[in-house]
Amino acid sequence: MGSILFRSTNRGAPEVGFREALLRGQAPDYGLYMPVEIPVFTPGEITDFRMMDYHRIASEIFMKFLRTDLPIPRIEDMSRNAYNFDVPIQRIREDFHIMWLTRGPTASFKDFAARMMAKLMEYFAKSERKKLTVLVATSGDTGGAVANAFHRLENMNVVVLFPLAEVTERQRKQMSTLGDNVFPVAVKGKFDDCQAIVKMAFNDRELEHFELTSANSINFGRLMPQIVYYFYAYSRLNVKDIVFSVPSGNFGNLMGGVFARKMGLPVKKFIVAVNENDEFPEFLKTGKYNPVVPSKECSSNAMNVGHPSNLARLIDLYGGWLTDERDMKTGKVLKKGVIKIKPDVERMKNDFSSYSVAEKEVDGTITSYFRNHGIVLEPHGAVGVRAAEKINIKVPVVCLETADPAKFPDKIRTLLGVEPPLPASLAGIDRTKEDYEILEGGYVEFKKFLCGKFAHIL
Ligand SMILES: *Cc1c(COP(=O)(O)O)cnc(C)c1O
Repeated sequence: MGSILFRSTNRGAPEVGFREALLRGQAPDYGLYMPVEIPVFTPGEITDFRMMDYHRIASEIFMKFLRTDLPIPRIEDMSRNAYNFDVPIQRIREDFHIMWLTRGPTASFKDFAARMMAKLMEYFAKSERKKLTVLVATSGDTGGAVANAFHRLENMNVVVLFPLAEVTERQRKQMSTLGDNVFPVAVKGKFDDCQAIVKMAFNDRELEHFELTSANSINFGRLMPQIVYYFYAYSRLNVKDIVFSVPSGNFGNLMGGVFARKMGLPVKKFIVAVNENDEFPEFLKTGKYNPVVPSKECSSNAMNVGHPSNLARLIDLYGGWLTDERDMKTGKVLKKGVIKIKPDVERMKNDFSSYSVAEKEVDGTITSYFRNHGIVLEPHGAVGVRAAEKINIKVPVVCLETADPAKFPDKIRTLLGVEPPLPASLAGIDRTKEDYEILEGGYVEFKKFLCGKFAHIL
């Protein structure tokens, strides 16, 4: 059994193995890598997960994908190392649970993906004696998780771009206080601007010597670890079918779940919970896809995405083709998010329910969960919980809480009049010294930074 191959959603690039999909991030035809074949577990294997710890389940899943790419003991070591924290599942009432994906070192669910991906990249970089530069755009939590996951790893540097005005102070500090091989860059724009800069850098031949690699949710290496907690949740609850409510921005989290279902997990439905950026629920309703440009600013800032990068993968799995229209010569995007081949929308409607949750409802949900259950939710999780309350289904629901409320202290203070307790991972961060670059303009200025100041640091 050879290694699993990956193809591009844009259908114009050669198939590659896991290592190359991981290090390239994006396919050369601007598409996203998809496994040609999705491995499956038997019902018996899924039942066996009930006896396993989180990191064991993780290893089982990774082995299905990595096969000959990595020695099994290395996979096991990496998983044990990456997942050394709790994943609590809290029962709220009959058949309604919250899974807290918040106990990692940066207190957001991004740790699950970033920690494993970082170890995999370090492994391949070292085995090839290469020095890699990870380039990532973040709307909030990715930057902190990625920076933390790669901090002081060998053969790796990290450049993180974030929208200056759209991240919270604590989110910024999680990137700007590490130093060493971590280089944060603040962009005076929106997340979509940061993402555009990153995409251009990847397609810029003149930057080839940096060995740029992506840690964005377009990287399959980040999706794979996000399959695990869906299997884990199922293994801890004694149920037949299950529904997940997923607070969604770039749909990387959701895709982890979708792959889990393809691998045999009996998921009845995914609730795709979005904030006021409602392009996906509108698409399910009308069959027409209209990106929200510019994206709307909501308090769930990691979900302020008007054109989710992983949507191309989802549409692909349902037989469609979603891509950006480009100038063939320059690669410049002319029109974002064009459906070239329509997916099976009826089947999608059956598998997904999607709700847009307004800012007022987020506030109401945070307030009522505190009053009625003594639980402090934060805006992203509240979007998921609220969306789950809108669906009428007789199947146990697990809502994913994706960040610790202490990352959004202003919101919690204003709504609840309490200070969210600081998890151990965030202790002391308010006092630590910061260092980051500020970018006024777009790609040209970023390239100058990379080729000038940054090149000298390397
Ligand atoms: C990134 C993030 C999300 C959205 O996840 P996607 O994979 O982009 O859909 C939700 N909540 C939090 C706290 C996040 O950091």
